[in-house]
Amino acid sequence: MVLPGGLARTDGTIDRTYRWKPVDGTVERALADAAHARFRPEAISKALAGALESIGGEPVSRERIDALSVPDRRFLMIELADALGLSFAWSTHACEACAKPFDFPLDLRALPVMPAGEHYPSTEIATARGRVRLRVPTGADQIRIAAIDDEGAAADLLAALCISACDDDAADVIDTLSADDFAAIEDAMEQLAPTLAWAAQAPCPDCGFGNVIAIDTAAWLVSMADGPTPDVHEIALAYGWSERDILALTRAQRLQYLALIRGDMHRN
Ligand SMILES: [Zn+2]
Repeated sequence: MVLPGGLARTDGTIDRTYRWKPVDGTVERALADAAHARFRPEAISKALAGALESIGGEPVSRERIDALSVPDRRFLMIELADALGLSFAWSTHACEACAKPFDFPLDLRALPVMPAGEHYPSTEIATARGRVRLRVPTGADQIRIAAIDDEGAAADLLAALCISACDDDAADVIDTLSADDFAAIEDAMEQLAPTLAWAAQAPCPDCGFGNVIAIDTAAWLVSMADGPTPDVHEIALAYGWSERDILALTRAQRLQYLALIRGDMHRN
């Protein structure tokens, strides 16, 4: 698999490659740490930095993880969920029309992914104000706006980060754009960025109302919050192995040893 977007090399070409580490206890410890991050974009950066080996042909770093586009980061969180067996989940929602609760299944692997457009990650378009340059929002952008409570202010800052004037470096280009300009910018951004659905249609089983449910590709991270320490404790007690050796086991190996210790595999 390759990233739907990718990272720009210094010569401007795009590298879409990435490689995961084997999912062992060390990776799970990083995921547990990520699960406790205060803001979601920070949690995603920590999780990906802990679980990836390389990205864009170079060893993983926080800088490179944060430079990934938002759709790439969502795509990678789905793959990581899949590697942990967590990509399918039921969640409970209250119907917006009749308020009755209903269960909704979401299979993250089933979401269609459309790769980025040819000019990714940035392009120029003509507006009434002159030519402007747009670029696809990155993890670093999301981290910058995460602490802003006011949704409108956060959206304004994100627009200011991703839209700039080509002819001069006026900071106020956003304020001078018309509604038509913004519509054109939105269209251009849709052509440019990879596509991965933000929401799913969930019809209410009771009244049939078409609820729209936001798709959070990192929601599963909370289930990793405890980390592997209880497992390490159990295996260390049984076999006397060091923490380091136990953390080096893959998740599958660790679960197998735990099953043996608990006698599950040979019980009738
Ligand atoms: Zn309903």
